[in-house]
Amino acid sequence: MTNLQSPTPIAQAPPAFHIMLKPRGAVCNLDCKYCYFLAKEMMYPGSRFRMADALLEEYTKQYIAAQRVPEVTFGWQGGEPTLMGLDFFRRAVAYQQKYAPPGTRILNAFQTNGTLIDDEWCRFFKEHGFLVGLSIDGPQPLHDFYRVDKGGQPTFGKVMRALELLQQHGVEYNTLTTLHAANVGHPLAVYRFLRDEVGTQFMQFIPIVERDNETGYQEGDRATDRSLTGKQYGDFLIAIFDEWVRRDVGRIFVQIFDVALAAWIGEPPGLCIFSETCGNALAMEHNGDLFSCDHFVEPKYKLGNIQEIPLLDLVGLPEQIQFGRDKRDTLPRYCRECEVRFVCNGGCPKDRFITTPDGEPGLNYLCEGFRAFFNHIDRPMRIMAAELRARRPPANIMRILAQEEAQARQWQTSVGRNDPCPCGSGKKFKACHGRRTN
Ligand code: SF4
Ligand code: SF4
Repeated sequence: MTNLQSPTPIAQAPPAFHIMLKPRGAVCNLDCKYCYFLAKEMMYPGSRFRMADALLEEYTKQYIAAQRVPEVTFGWQGGEPTLMGLDFFRRAVAYQQKYAPPGTRILNAFQTNGTLIDDEWCRFFKEHGFLVGLSIDGPQPLHDFYRVDKGGQPTFGKVMRALELLQQHGVEYNTLTTLHAANVGHPLAVYRFLRDEVGTQFMQFIPIVERDNETGYQEGDRATDRSLTGKQYGDFLIAIFDEWVRRDVGRIFVQIFDVALAAWIGEPPGLCIFSETCGNALAMEHNGDLFSCDHFVEPKYKLGNIQEIPLLDLVGLPEQIQFGRDKRDTLPRYCRECEVRFVCNGGCPKDRFITTPDGEPGLNYLCEGFRAFFNHIDRPMRIMAAELRARRPPANIMRILAQEEAQARQWQTSVGRNDPCPCGSGKKFKACHGRRTN
């Protein structure tokens, strides 16, 4: 479409990377109070915020060609991608079919607030094997607390209607739940609702850490009142983990638990937040502007426009490679010496705006929660990792814990609290199997 010129010098792009595509930019039909993307509309004054067809085709061609792996995933996000209308996605699929070389598998992951989903959308999702991520924050009062439409009206009913349609049509879906000041104090209500009423088998929980400033950029060192605290985040994860590890392992997948298990068996986490370095999860705006990450759609992190510079060159730019390495290279000493660094890696750089106890900047705002949670799950994770190494299902953890807890209940009646724990740990009973967990 245009003469593409390569900038110099070009570093090596990774063999595979992911791009969150925002065909409608930041435009959304909802007005979720904590949304970090709504403020991005200010970056494109006067724009119609609609990806042009020629750009869609150009992007599809370049994106597929840039992935040197047999499976290519298109990630659709917003704003709200359904606002592009179904015909746009019909064309998107047609371009994918046109440019996919034989043997390449194309996948589509579609993140939506669900409010505009109808039978026609569902038929399309089903026909083309889209994986739909539905945003839902818990039972009705918790969901509606911040997730309202432009008129301030609740959206829970519409989201549940979308869920029903997705289920009726057999569309594959998972849930994305943001954790914030309103729902973080209700871990079991949220988890059980998602498991039992929404029927999701794959849950993602995204902590809302929203900086208190006027720009909407990652600036300043204060979080808004809507944000959760690190302690609340840790307490939430611990509460749902304790339920999951006793009854749901192997049938309910919670992203952060999977990521943790990978770390305990020494494999890469599969999620940039807990990787040592990042930089392979970029974002593209409706006009072809490419940014280092979905959380850094800011002028400072714009790599260029794919209509002017080939996508592969932009992804391989030295500044993007450096962006990813900085995640590791800027870790404060407190993190480098932390006992759970192997799984945490300091978390996402966007949240590193507090100081360590000895005054070094760059500590993650969620540190307290990460540390509590990863320490809390250490023993069950070790057991599950051992089961996996022995080629047995990690779900065996549920039987192992049940037996231990039955044994501990027996000991409660026969062992003094200050006696040595009969399990042989060398600890006092009250600090080991006799610990009160309420
Ligand atoms: S900045 Fe955070 S969200 Fe973005 S790629 Fe790095 S770890 Fe992932
Ligand atoms: S738990 Fe805290 S100190 Fe440890 S690596 Fe994570 S952010 Fe750093």
